[in-house]
Amino acid sequence: MEGMEYLYELFGSMPRGGPGNKRSTRRAFELIPALPGDPFILDIGCGHGVQTLELAHMSGGRVIALDNHHPFLDILMEKAREEGLDDRIEPVCMSMLEMDFEEGTFDLIWSEGALYNMGFPEGLRKGRTLLKEDGYMAVSELTILSKDAPDPVMEYCKREYPPIRDVQGNLEMIRAEGFHLVGHFTLDSSAWLECFYEPMEKELERLEGKYRGNETALGFFEEMRNEIYMYRKYGQFYGYEFFVMQKRGR
Ligand code: SAH
Repeated sequence: MEGMEYLYELFGSMPRGGPGNKRSTRRAFELIPALPGDPFILDIGCGHGVQTLELAHMSGGRVIALDNHHPFLDILMEKAREEGLDDRIEPVCMSMLEMDFEEGTFDLIWSEGALYNMGFPEGLRKGRTLLKEDGYMAVSELTILSKDAPDPVMEYCKREYPPIRDVQGNLEMIRAEGFHLVGHFTLDSSAWLECFYEPMEKELERLEGKYRGNETALGFFEEMRNEIYMYRKYGQFYGYEFFVMQKRGR
């Protein structure tokens, strides 16, 4: 797709690839009532792997960090080496659409701001087959947070992410795909602003200078600025909801 190289350049120099922060990763992890001492974890669409490192620290287990963009995995593994976690994190450069792990492999499947690339229900369905019996899955998903979202917000959300649902719709999907809900919460606005959009604005300023005169690049950056504008104005109506669930026997 034209413009992808600019997107990768922008995200490559940011701290993470989507809204999130360590606090919410920890909060979701702490909702899980019990895991084996040495859990085997899959992190789908790990990107720079802020949450991968956190998971390795908190769980004491092994994590497969899966992303289809190799440079992100390189960034992650450099940090993993610095933190002495490289023997417990295995980078796998693969599309989430082509995951070929054996069924029943993982104790925990994680995905922050990424599962939408295969679709929320499709991702849950696939995750369920890869989980051991009673395994857990934790996913953050872009969600409509309020019934009172004004029309322009609904139009914007549906245009940007056509399958977007409200919290209730996602909870129904979770049940329908064979999981028990363990808990859920909304990411706070600092996960969007301080940890994602503010670093993005700094990078946009730099890249807009670098690509002055390049209409394709500037058009793309303009779209990102619009996304930030929409969140600042309407972020109380949509956001990321973190869902933690357990595989249920059929
Ligand atoms: N979980 C990270 C990154 C979220 S951004 C964080 O919260 O910071 C979404 C990530 O999904 C990007 O790293 C992107 O490279 C990855 N991605 C997009 N499509 C993918 C696919 N088909 N297979 C695997 N990874 C994909």
